[in-house]
Amino acid sequence: LAKQGGKNRYHLFDIARDAAVQTRHDAVQRISDALAQGEFVLYYQPKVNMRTGEVIGAEALIRWQHPERGLVPPGDFLPTIEDHPISIALGEWVIDTALAQMGAWRAQGLDLVVSVNIDALQLQQANFPEQLHDILTQHPDVPPQCLQLEILETSALEDIARAAAVMHACRAMGVAFAVDDFGTGYSSLTYLKYLPADVLKIDQSFIRNMTDNPDDLAIVRGVIGLAEVFHRQVIAEGVETRTHGDLLLSIGCDLAQGYGVARPMPADALPAWALQWREGGGLLASSPS
Ligand code: C2E
Ligand code: MG
Ligand code: MG
Ligand code: MG
Repeated sequence: LAKQGGKNRYHLFDIARDAAVQTRHDAVQRISDALAQGEFVLYYQPKVNMRTGEVIGAEALIRWQHPERGLVPPGDFLPTIEDHPISIALGEWVIDTALAQMGAWRAQGLDLVVSVNIDALQLQQANFPEQLHDILTQHPDVPPQCLQLEILETSALEDIARAAAVMHACRAMGVAFAVDDFGTGYSSLTYLKYLPADVLKIDQSFIRNMTDNPDDLAIVRGVIGLAEVFHRQVIAEGVETRTHGDLLLSIGCDLAQGYGVARPMPADALPAWALQWREGGGLLASSPS
């Protein structure tokens, strides 16, 4: 009886596994079709210097303009493909599209450093620097110094030596690196020691809670201090209010990105936004009371 039960369970497990494989296969196929049909778009979220009011750059954030579901956020489709080769093709599309957009903005007189998010699989490809070089060559009007790559510390730590080698090769071309969601990966110090990252992005969870929770504020101060001693830039993500901005300025973090500055927007909207931001004196909206 026990044996029979075991066998049945095994049979059910097989069915469940086959279904999961099928589901993923379908998801990958849909994403690959969407890529071929041009259904992906990049939105751009500005980064500013709160002290000078200057617009310093923007982060490219992917969305899927789905024919039935509307604008789908990356959290709803990237996790399904994160360790699948299609994510490499999608990642190349993101870099290529961001560079084309930067070229178009530059032609209008808007020079911005644009950052793109790179996933773990992309960073672990030994030939990533060559692929990046090829894409850069196709955009001779955009200096590589205007491109920044955002990586998660967790994605580099899988093989830190290889990640460091890839990063050094890309930096030799002029491309900069930012560590995204800094502080959430449990290995931030090792990371700083080995990886040539130019920028630390303080994770938005710490920014959100820093006004109420002394531990979060301590982490924010700690990251700002680390950036200083390691000679890295530091930027806060998830800056939603004037209160966040004022506190950050008072503890030595001038650079900010977040809804308090602007939400991610279509590329076409960014030049007008930048003009308006400058005319408004580069100030964050007052916090709702
Ligand atoms: P991320 O790189 O940490 O990007 C920041 C996310 O926080 C974005 O969500 C952004 O819209 C959101 N955000 C910005 N400011 C605020 C704020 O003040 N408050 C709140 N609540 N949220 C804010 P999004 O666009 O949904 O992207 C989520 C994640 O998906 C990104 O996190 C990034 O890890 C990933 N992602 C986005 N685009 C790409 C891409 O092209 N390639 C790869 N590999 N990953 C991407
Ligand atoms: Mg990012
Ligand atoms: Mg982040
Ligand atoms: Mg994130």
